[in-house]
Amino acid sequence: GDRTETLLQTDGLVKQFGGFTATDDVDFSVAEGELRCLIGPNGAGKSTLLNLITGTYEASDGSIYYNGHDITDLDPHERVSRGISMKFQVPSVYGDLSVRENVRLPVQQFADGEERRRLVAEAIEAAGLTGYEDVAASQLSHGQQQQLEIGMAAALEPDLLLLDEPVAGLDVAEREAIAERIRRLNEEEGIAFIVIEHDTDFVASIAEEVTVLHNGEVFREGPIEEIESDPEVQRIYLGG
Ligand code: ADP
Ligand code: MG
Repeated sequence: GDRTETLLQTDGLVKQFGGFTATDDVDFSVAEGELRCLIGPNGAGKSTLLNLITGTYEASDGSIYYNGHDITDLDPHERVSRGISMKFQVPSVYGDLSVRENVRLPVQQFADGEERRRLVAEAIEAAGLTGYEDVAASQLSHGQQQQLEIGMAAALEPDLLLLDEPVAGLDVAEREAIAERIRRLNEEEGIAFIVIEHDTDFVASIAEEVTVLHNGEVFREGPIEEIESDPEVQRIYLGG
């Protein structure tokens, strides 16, 4: 599609937990086919923003538009149907199930028969786990489990895929394998991404544009090189 079209847009988005404002008047947008990273110190509101976009959390105020439609009041399942998919911060693969059985879980809610088999096969390929179909997920390395989760999230051929800290705890080689999965899904399938990640080397390896959240607000937005060398961004990471 036309990469200059807006895919997702939030307008004055607010999330309050009791009296605490976790997301504060956020205007944020992602274009079709864009790969955007979301960074910011712990507690900045990154996961909360993704959970608002998926509908896991209900917005306290403001709106979310997707493909030009107001989706603020849609339930999570309806958002998945419209093309929004997420890999959560907490691992969600079933160790006792094989790679194929895990991938089938998200797919079987939306497809059956030949379509189901095609989506499962493509998701295993997208995960980079061809040859591991019958291996129990518990037997995979931590990095391969993360690849599996990305494949599961990509299985429904979303237009927008949200990844919350996909390389946390992984070594350099495992990080590069994940970066490769993300780049391929973005370039070959045209899937837009919002990726939460702290490691600036990893961010620079997948994204050009970065959004910095701080205290629930958009603090900075721009190219990774600019953001990395911004003294104000360095200051918030040091807790100033
Ligand atoms: P990040 O992902 O940037 O580390 P979060 O979005 O997880 O930050 O959290 C932002 C703030 O909102 C934190 O102060 C956190 O404690 C608070 N918060 C997040 N989820 C909840 C919740 N379900 N109930 C209460 N407070 C929450
Ligand atoms: Mg988080």
